[in-house]
Amino acid sequence: EVVVNRIAAGEIIQRPANALKELLENSLDAKSSHIQVNVKSGGLKLLQIQDNGTGIRKEDLSIVCERFTTSKLSKFEDLTEIATFGFRGEALASISHVAHLSIQTKTASERCGYKATYADGKLLAPPKPCAGNQGTIITIEDLFYTMPQRRQALKSPAEEFQKISDVLAKYAVHNPQVGFVLRKQGEQPSLKTQACSSRTENIRGIYGAAVAKELMEFSHKDEMFKFELECLLTQVNYSAKKSTLLLFINHRLVESSALKTALDTVYATYLPRGQHPFVYMSLMLPPQNLDVNVHPTKHEVHFLYQDEIIERIKQQVEAKLLGSNA
Ligand code: ADP
Ligand code: MG
Repeated sequence: EVVVNRIAAGEIIQRPANALKELLENSLDAKSSHIQVNVKSGGLKLLQIQDNGTGIRKEDLSIVCERFTTSKLSKFEDLTEIATFGFRGEALASISHVAHLSIQTKTASERCGYKATYADGKLLAPPKPCAGNQGTIITIEDLFYTMPQRRQALKSPAEEFQKISDVLAKYAVHNPQVGFVLRKQGEQPSLKTQACSSRTENIRGIYGAAVAKELMEFSHKDEMFKFELECLLTQVNYSAKKSTLLLFINHRLVESSALKTALDTVYATYLPRGQHPFVYMSLMLPPQNLDVNVHPTKHEVHFLYQDEIIERIKQQVEAKLLGSNA
């Protein structure tokens, strides 16, 4: 059974950047305002995330790494919302099957913190009291030590670090209310944003002043197809070798090849040859309109009225680009 669980877990956590995405979402769900990420060897040796969120209650530490354990069901309006991204309570469980996992955490109401270590979904020993501030530190070591082939198939630590950095950068832009820090162990931060900053400020800090100064902003609320869009985009992006698309749907980082293709088509008309745009989009949809069959690793999403919504977005972007040319 352990082997089967490990294989299933390996499907969910395919590389360090996937694990980080899950952990970032947990820290954000826990209302953190500061999130620090520490990395060794592209996250393969160490991936550690520290937040100042709500923390985990001592009595929950024994079950957080069991499959389908989630504290998030009560706050969902209905079952469709639970199913929004197709799974719940699988991230920590999966990670504990493919790495050494430990959690140090303290809630506001407990007098001290607790530290617990896990393997294959189970607590290894009772949580030990420890000092610490409110919040949670999740430490993942030796990712894929249970799956040597997976480990071999991964790219170099430098490339894995790049993917980690990409994910963190995108969450930092989307969440300007939160301060983020990313560092390689023992080095100065390679990425840092302040809490209570703005998206534009974060784009400037992370993607560069050349991009930030070209940004155009717009938002759109659509009654007919029930979506809300917030968008920051450039006509060109002087510094980039390829286009950059940050797409969040209902606050989750996702991919939509249909939307990407539509944007490429619009930009093809307006973009000087060899230039690449920067596009940030945050799309809010009624949760029940999102495809519930989306697998956690297949961040490719589908949604109801997809063609119509993408057509509207295309028109909006086109109008913006046209306006800036006039
Ligand atoms: P899910 O996020 O779908 O609930 P996870 O496996 O990602 O499932 O996490 C399991 C549970 O562990 C969460 O529901 C939450 O209660 C708790 N948890 C995980 N990370 C944190 C964190 N950084 N701060 C507070 N609670 C956390
Ligand atoms: Mg989670």
